[in-house]
Amino acid sequence: MTFRNISKEALVGSITLGLVFVVGYLFGKKKSSRMSISKSHCGGKDNPLMQYVLNHSMREHPVLKNLRLRTMEDPWHIAMVACEQSQFMANLAKLIKAKKAIEIGVYTGYNTLNMALALPDDGVVVACDISEDYANIGKPFWKEAGVEQKIDLRIQPASKTLDDLLSDGQAETFDFVFIDADKVSYDIYFEKSLKLLRKGGIIAIDNVLWGGKVLNPSHDDADTLAIDKLNKKLHRDARISLSMLTVGDGLTLAIKL
Ligand code: CA
Repeated sequence: MTFRNISKEALVGSITLGLVFVVGYLFGKKKSSRMSISKSHCGGKDNPLMQYVLNHSMREHPVLKNLRLRTMEDPWHIAMVACEQSQFMANLAKLIKAKKAIEIGVYTGYNTLNMALALPDDGVVVACDISEDYANIGKPFWKEAGVEQKIDLRIQPASKTLDDLLSDGQAETFDFVFIDADKVSYDIYFEKSLKLLRKGGIIAIDNVLWGGKVLNPSHDDADTLAIDKLNKKLHRDARISLSMLTVGDGLTLAIKL
């Protein structure tokens, strides 16, 4: 890798983080804790370099694109995962030949669909959310893409679903977990997910920068404190290998050792 490439990547990262920080500042106080922050979803209108990145890397399935456009009509569309981040995670799932995935926090199911598309025919995504209202937006698109049979939507607290999977004897059988729900429960989700994950499996954790607020957490900001506490814990966690990426609003990858 040349220095030129490094500086280009650093520039993209800096611009991304800047955008995320502004978005996080604008929306962080208005949104409920289960709503998460993302930046452009799949557009870089105000950022030519980001637009270049998207133009030269996105290979969005046409039904996935239609679900994204439908999601943009929803008032909470900011909660949708960034499209390039979703594609990256789908590629990771393919890379490790994932068959079983868990998604904690579904919203309209954009990433759920992307993950289902990435898995083989006998794959499954256990999709966890406490409300079916938004998932109902995604369901027709899951069907249209021909992968609805791979999506096991469970409407109840994710912690309960993870416990159900454990008591069902599915410990150490999952390949990939994406955590993107209420931030104060992140550590609980992580611990239960780690039990469900096989060695070499990946837990991806969204919003680990939380619009930049992790730099200076306020003592009464439970979401930021929870994220910062988990970030610090994972840094010294010998059970995993670790990367923290500046894609989207910050994405931690924890690989089970
Ligand atoms: Ca998120």
